[in-house]
Amino acid sequence: MLQLARHVPWLLYCSTMRMLISNTTVIGEGGAVLPATDVIIDGGKYVGLLPTGKAQGPFDKSISGEGKILAPGLFNAHTHLAMTLFRGKAADMNLMQWLEEEIWPVEKKLTAEDVHWFSRLGLVEMIRSGTVGFADMYFFMDEVAQAAEEAGLRALLSYGIIAPSADRVEPELRKAEEFASAWNGTADGRITTAFSPHAPYTCGPELWSQATKLARELKIPIHTHLAETKEEVDRMREQTGRTPVEWLEGLGVFSVPTLAAHCVHVTEKDCNILAAHRVAVAHCPTSNARLACGIAPTTDLLNGGVCVALGTDGPGSSGSLDLLREMRMAAMLGKLRQTDPQAIGVDQTLAMASKNGAAALGLRNETGTIAEGKWADGILVARRNAHMIPGYSPLTDLVYSAEKADVEAVFVKGNMLMEGRRLLTLDEERITAKCRELVGKYR
Ligand SMILES: [Zn+2]
Repeated sequence: MLQLARHVPWLLYCSTMRMLISNTTVIGEGGAVLPATDVIIDGGKYVGLLPTGKAQGPFDKSISGEGKILAPGLFNAHTHLAMTLFRGKAADMNLMQWLEEEIWPVEKKLTAEDVHWFSRLGLVEMIRSGTVGFADMYFFMDEVAQAAEEAGLRALLSYGIIAPSADRVEPELRKAEEFASAWNGTADGRITTAFSPHAPYTCGPELWSQATKLARELKIPIHTHLAETKEEVDRMREQTGRTPVEWLEGLGVFSVPTLAAHCVHVTEKDCNILAAHRVAVAHCPTSNARLACGIAPTTDLLNGGVCVALGTDGPGSSGSLDLLREMRMAAMLGKLRQTDPQAIGVDQTLAMASKNGAAALGLRNETGTIAEGKWADGILVARRNAHMIPGYSPLTDLVYSAEKADVEAVFVKGNMLMEGRRLLTLDEERITAKCRELVGKYR
């Protein structure tokens, strides 16, 4: 709490600042590139995008954007931050083997202190790679919420419910409800909450129905895993005669806004159901590839009108929280699946990681693009390094060539979280030292 008290007044101060980012290259709406632009931020929002030299002062703060790209901040639409604890613990397994042999047994040892530090470790990595908001479901979520509040990011947070037996339904729902009620709308509106039955294969119909009812009452969304593996779909078909998407629709789950991670194995009918109910999909290409789940049909989903965002999933399965890497994977796997280089364009790829990610977090029309009236959630990316030269297309370079070390500044609602690669809200040295110490009991 000491750290929180130290940081909050600073964040409040900054959000009232009038700030200029001068002479930068903006990636605007629809991927439009605006060279030599002055960007004015006031009250935490973009209020002016003008040709360089036209911005009128005074400004409380001025940053040179010369030689840099100003891009929308990235949104990680599905992760489990504290699973940084399990990064690299196992490799070369399929999903169920990985969960049953490597993850679920050690998660029983998990403490609030572990989540406190390893979620902060994840936040360090996310800020350093240009992420401004994320959707997270896990355990000890008060710790994750405090970490997000302190770090200054946006977050859609939920307690992950796993209730395979009837006696777990009530206690799990109470835990989820307590967390969701306590944190929704906190941190100056940066934190919102969701209900998260983990998946159709870990929660029964009674829990799903009750969770949907509670989500409707609290006016919050549902965030879950859906159709991640072929085995999940086959088992559900055997048991119910329906696909997991059809099964959740039949239970009325999609009557509340839903964010569904993965959707790798979906039929044409499933795609139509997801589109009709405006279910947002968090596509996690690296995790899906590493666990050999398959390649989600992102082109079909996007063409069918589904809002497809990007997620890293937990670093235990993906190895990384870097959304720049995730964008590249999404674009390349999407093209490979269709054997069509035009299957997913660079503008669509950036939109999945920014505009669609914001929509998946319930922030459609509020942020996710750089335009007047939108919240100033953005990143400055250097163009000077060798791998970004010669620089014909800033958008193509951002999607296919940029590295996280090129991300120089990250801001949310106009508040700087990182500037000149220096983290301003988290103590990276202390966090990494503490995580190295805590991992001892899991080795
Ligand atoms: Zn997940």
